[in-house]
Amino acid sequence: MSVDKLIAHEKDVGGIPVARMLPNHGKRTIGAWCFLDHAGPAIFEGDSKGLQVGLHPHTNLQTFTWMLEGEVLHKDSLGNEQTIRPGQVNLMTAGTGENKGISHTEQSVEGCDRLHAVQLWIALPMDAAIEPSFHHYPTLPIWTEQGVTYTITTGQYAGRQADTLQYSRLLGVDVQVSTAQELQLEQQKGFEYGILVLRGRVKFAGEDYHPNELISLSNCERDNTTNTLCLIADADTHFMLIGGEPLPHPTVIWWNFIDRDHAGLRQSVEDWNNHDRRFGDIRLDGTLLERLIAPIL
Ligand code: MN
Repeated sequence: MSVDKLIAHEKDVGGIPVARMLPNHGKRTIGAWCFLDHAGPAIFEGDSKGLQVGLHPHTNLQTFTWMLEGEVLHKDSLGNEQTIRPGQVNLMTAGTGENKGISHTEQSVEGCDRLHAVQLWIALPMDAAIEPSFHHYPTLPIWTEQGVTYTITTGQYAGRQADTLQYSRLLGVDVQVSTAQELQLEQQKGFEYGILVLRGRVKFAGEDYHPNELISLSNCERDNTTNTLCLIADADTHFMLIGGEPLPHPTVIWWNFIDRDHAGLRQSVEDWNNHDRRFGDIRLDGTLLERLIAPIL
């Protein structure tokens, strides 16, 4: 097994400080998870309106939002409007191919004074013809065992399964540890894994990991016969376990687009900036919403 420690880059997204964990130098993907932002925890001060992400597009990926604190309103070009609250997942699928895409906005709900969330992207298998869609998951499998609360946000773990739509085998589990202990995390064959510390401290293979540090595990089968990942967590520790099968093809990423190659990315930039219909639009009181401009590759 190869173990890498990834440290966050600090960014600002729609007015909120975020810790960007993926892509990260040499490490671009964990399974099909290709982007990972840990947003907040943030309290909005003064006349801050919180998170305000304007209309922007996506291609060949799913946006996956796991909400921990606060409320965010999602609106997309398919006509969906959905508020996401703590303990819920929003999953938006851009579809695949040069004629498919989606666009959306994300805004803190008026009067809401905080935000804590993890937003990930999942690269879609581009050999499959996938249609744009949006799904909201208000309840997910959650249980507590020996002072540890697990929530499955996607995939299956410990004999339980979330309904979250998948196009490749993936796992997301939120883990909150109240009392210090050693944990044996179930490991699935053929998966790569990432463990993102959100609060507290985790020790893995003799090394300490703090908030906004990610343990990246690849080649998990090699010299590992136990089928578990063993780690030690301090009391009051919160982390996210993500995993999945490696992608069947390489991907490149630019702004909010994923593709097989740069030609596909350039086409998406051109299409978005020229109002191509593949991305749809959102109207507010009959008027087209203003768009963020895609930077030229
Ligand atoms: Mn987005």
